[in-house]
Amino acid sequence: MGAHLALVTIFVTLLLHCCNIDYGAYVTAHLSSDLKGFQFFIEKTNDFFNNKKNDLLSNTFRGSPSNRTSSTTTTTTTTTTSTTLMSSSILEIARRPETIEWIKSIRREIHEYPELAYEEFETNRLIRRELDRMGVGYRSPMAGTGIRASVGTGGPPFVGVRADMDALPIQELAEWEHKSKVAGKMHACGHDAHVAMLLGAAKILKNREHHLKGTVVLLFQPAEEAGIGAKRMIEDGALEDVEAIFAAHVSHQHPTSVIGSRSGPLLAGCGFFRAVITRREESSASHTTPHVDTILAASAAVISLQNIVSREANPLDSQVVSVASFNGGGNDIDMADPKTVVLGGTFRAFSNASIHQIRRRIEEVIVEQASVYRCTATVDFFEKKQPIYPPTVNDEQMYEHVKKVALDLLGPNNFNEVPPMMGAEDFSFYSEVVPASAFFYIGTRNETLGSTHSGHSPYFMIDENALPVGAAVHAAIAERYLNEHG
Ligand SMILES: [Zn+2]
Ligand SMILES: [Zn+2]
Repeated sequence: MGAHLALVTIFVTLLLHCCNIDYGAYVTAHLSSDLKGFQFFIEKTNDFFNNKKNDLLSNTFRGSPSNRTSSTTTTTTTTTTSTTLMSSSILEIARRPETIEWIKSIRREIHEYPELAYEEFETNRLIRRELDRMGVGYRSPMAGTGIRASVGTGGPPFVGVRADMDALPIQELAEWEHKSKVAGKMHACGHDAHVAMLLGAAKILKNREHHLKGTVVLLFQPAEEAGIGAKRMIEDGALEDVEAIFAAHVSHQHPTSVIGSRSGPLLAGCGFFRAVITRREESSASHTTPHVDTILAASAAVISLQNIVSREANPLDSQVVSVASFNGGGNDIDMADPKTVVLGGTFRAFSNASIHQIRRRIEEVIVEQASVYRCTATVDFFEKKQPIYPPTVNDEQMYEHVKKVALDLLGPNNFNEVPPMMGAEDFSFYSEVVPASAFFYIGTRNETLGSTHSGHSPYFMIDENALPVGAAVHAAIAERYLNEHG
């Protein structure tokens, strides 16, 4: 009698974030004005470019006879020289003390007043204020609080660069001068830094507008963390005429200003599910007669879900099925069997085929297992509100473009090829429309500063010295794309 556990409430909390991985840091009072790291980087970069320029000049003007007679070699050398000069010029603007102070101040202003998905009204206002000051034209609002700005000729080719704008419902625990002033909200994923870097790129590109051989489209996108802002931006025309697109995310896994990326799958596709398992009407809820146990039915479904990856997936095709919440019953006084149990979780994979296969199997497994225990089940994948995120797959040529720009701009020690990660990004919606795309990381890890915590941590921090570097990389990727495709 009463031996049966009649009420179980297990609630596993999980921040079901889609956004990228983990970034973070704990700060003391250091973000203030430590420019040493960036100055060191600039010095190193200048040495690199001065050496390279001297080599090029020496090859061009004092080279062998074959140099003077080969038009191919001359053209290549001239192109390389102009690329080197472009890189030097972009870095010169990015390293100006006023640029560095301005870009940091932008990031801090946004950090102090974080806004959640589709509530980025003040962030929108700030971006428009800065674009107005620069004389950069834009379309706004787009997707509620988004902006599409343009720099260049106004004609083709059009290359896009995107920054996300939204914060997270997290209370900031890092103590520093520019800590969030809004209780329970925090830029714990670095989207404040993304906006600042893209505005920095706008400033650099506006400064060099007469050099641009086409148009750079700057996308400031709401609601990356929740609400598929990218999809809404596309529906509102963000990708009109855009033939290639790039975006970056700050990363605590890479040292400050180091760029990381890879060709092919970089981030997983991602979906969520919520299953409601219900006792069939005719079943008894009595404790003393044979009856239907929804807790047992749901438990069996959870166990069976584990087999989808372990028994059915190709071991070389990384996948995840994770049950993150299990909720049944009412309270610990009334120990009656719950009529329903609700399960929730996430699933991830690196190809659209795999992710849709997992989705199909999750539904089948839950419904059939529920049936074994004389229950019914419905599974909601939230596809109307939040479609399954496709995997983020970098185009090989666009990845190579990012790599060569990073190498030319920052030197050979500041680019890493990275492994794929199970995080997800709504940048993949842009990639579906514009396959010529690449996503990359900008390192913000600095042990001295304490910027070592992962994204979505309340102690998340970045090394702000990465901001002007990020602006320069964004600008160079766009300008060089136009040079090579214009
Ligand atoms: Zn995030
Ligand atoms: Zn993020």
